[in-house]
Amino acid sequence: MIAPLRDFVGAFGRLLDSAPDEPRILSEGGALLRALVARDDWLPDAFARPDPARYQQFLLHADSTERFSVVSFVWGPGQATPIHDHTVWGLIGMLRGAEYSQGHVFDSSGRAQPQGDAVRLDAGDVEAVSPTVGDLHRVHNAHADRVSISIHVYGANIGAVRRHTYPAEGGRKPFVSGYSNTLLPNLWDRSDELRSTFA
Ligand code: FE
Repeated sequence: MIAPLRDFVGAFGRLLDSAPDEPRILSEGGALLRALVARDDWLPDAFARPDPARYQQFLLHADSTERFSVVSFVWGPGQATPIHDHTVWGLIGMLRGAEYSQGHVFDSSGRAQPQGDAVRLDAGDVEAVSPTVGDLHRVHNAHADRVSISIHVYGANIGAVRRHTYPAEGGRKPFVSGYSNTLLPNLWDRSDELRSTFA
């Protein structure tokens, strides 16, 4: 049943082999992701489990040279991220349920402020983030009473990227997300070693 994910990973790797610029990655990679999330019958249950305490980020695939990674983002009812950045391109495809992404920009004092309306993603929808198209957002499950799941693709091994969250009181905090997978040793989760060198 995992064949659609395998096909997606192969096609995405071939796209990156052609050394595309970011607009092409977002458009052609976005089309690949839209096809992947057009059906919801391939994600194994182990990568679709919510946690009552916090949203989950399960690594589905990390490219061997860390050109890209694929993550299932599992929202428990009402769960939300802090305002955060990515520092690399990212594609978000809604697989199940719905989420809201509220874009932010820095005001003159350097504080992240909401800009425009939140974008609602329903199953099948795809959105992009990056330092060029808008990299700051806060995301939350659109549903207060059920799980939502989106599939994310990033232009790096995202769990090991040094990035930031932006607290309401201002300033920014170093942030390395790691991955939630704990069932097996995770070759690609270097979050612990990075956290100790990034503060
Ligand atoms: Fe994000």
